[in-house]
Amino acid sequence: MHVAVIGAGTIGLTTAWYLRERGAQVSVFEMEKPANGASWGNAGQILPIKSVPLSEPGNLKYAMKSFFKKSSPITAPNTLDANLIRFLAHFMRNSTKKRHLMSANEMFQLGKSTFNEFAYLESHGVDTTRTIAPFTSAFSSRVSANSMIAEFQRISKTSMTMDLEMLDGVELRKREPLVEEHYDFGLQLNNQSFVNPPKLVSNLVASLQLLDVEIKSKSKVKNVVHVSGKTQVLLENGKSETFDAVVIATGAWLNRLTADHGVRMPVVAGIGYSMAVDVPHQTQGMLYFPEAHLATTNYGNRLRISTFMQMGDVEIPRDPKRQNRLQQIAQNVIPQADWSSVSEFWSGARPLSGDGKPLLGGTRTEGIYVNSGHGMWGITLAPVSAKLLADLITGKREIPKAFNPLR
Ligand SMILES: Cc1cc2nc3c(=O)[nH]c(=O)nc-3n(C[C@H](O)[C@H](O)[C@H](O)COP(=O)(O)OP(=O)(O)OC[C@H]3O[C@@H](n4cnc5c(N)ncnc54)[C@H](O)[C@@H]3O)c2cc1C
Repeated sequence: MHVAVIGAGTIGLTTAWYLRERGAQVSVFEMEKPANGASWGNAGQILPIKSVPLSEPGNLKYAMKSFFKKSSPITAPNTLDANLIRFLAHFMRNSTKKRHLMSANEMFQLGKSTFNEFAYLESHGVDTTRTIAPFTSAFSSRVSANSMIAEFQRISKTSMTMDLEMLDGVELRKREPLVEEHYDFGLQLNNQSFVNPPKLVSNLVASLQLLDVEIKSKSKVKNVVHVSGKTQVLLENGKSETFDAVVIATGAWLNRLTADHGVRMPVVAGIGYSMAVDVPHQTQGMLYFPEAHLATTNYGNRLRISTFMQMGDVEIPRDPKRQNRLQQIAQNVIPQADWSSVSEFWSGARPLSGDGKPLLGGTRTEGIYVNSGHGMWGITLAPVSAKLLADLITGKREIPKAFNPLR
């Protein structure tokens, strides 16, 4: 069986790996180069417990208040296209408490074996760069942590066991000296993981090449069609190639290739920004400042800082003012960092699906499959989604209906 995977982000590359492991011959098509999209500058946090849909009553309320404020961390674009309007309609419909709990539970069932799956990749020669570390959230007071505590307590009763510690300001700073005095309460979730995203991608590429998987950069796919029992990949340069099956894993570009294959769930871009900075001492691994909507992750001997969610089309122009804004927010939160050392300012598009869940499985067209829409959690969910899809394509098992791309 020869399978084409379109898109060399973390999702496409892990899908290629599991397909190859199950004996398929695999070719990867990438319009630019691997990690051209969200898979390069993200925060690299592997947090299945946090991998829930964005659509939720609190987020809806927050989005309504702040959506059109330019300075807000979550913003809408100036113009609303049809895809974005459909996305917002889905987002609102899925933001009830009942629907959020149901979708969150479906996501936990998907994500709960991700640490095992990362370990599996590692034991089969892929250097995922994963480090086991705590995930620490810093709050200005115990009260502002209440909703996260309630969320974690609910999850630990129903879906996943967790090792959670509550820290007062003194203990918080003892463990994480970079956290500024203003923060008086911490929640530390132990035994989580993070990766170095650019290295994860380049190591996946190296492992695939060792397994004779061809990675074709500068190969933009224009269309995918099914002709007489085979699938055909048509490239922008006029060439075409024939395969037994095709996986579309093009992140926030998904809807451009899936419209003819019955996929109606909109996937829009949630553009985020990041930068790297020197720090006087490393953190234990991952920090999160919910009130500032800011996340930090150890990145070599530096810190990668990320924030913002600018919703819109994947190609919308990036806002250069965001660099200053990101730096201003981060400076208030981590004043001890060396702000003259800022580099690697980056932006990338999270593939946000209307109901916040990945699109994982077959389309209306025989032989054409989808793996996208992982939103804020594509690195966390990459190996579990890839394994499920590779199993489906090679006839080993079905995928839960919750992720059906035709829903
Ligand atoms: C600021 C930020 C922080 C984040 N932090 C985390 C985190 O801590 N943990 C976590 O789990 N997730 C995180 N994410 C989310 C995560 O980065 C994404 O969910 C994930 O990278 C999506 O991977 P992907 O492979 O689906 O998409 P992408 O990485 O965007 O890859 C899609 C690829 O498809 C290619 N492509 C598109 N169209 C075509 C075409 N027609 N032909 C050929 N190639 C094409 C693109 O060039 C691109 O390389 C974060 C995202 C952002 C923006």
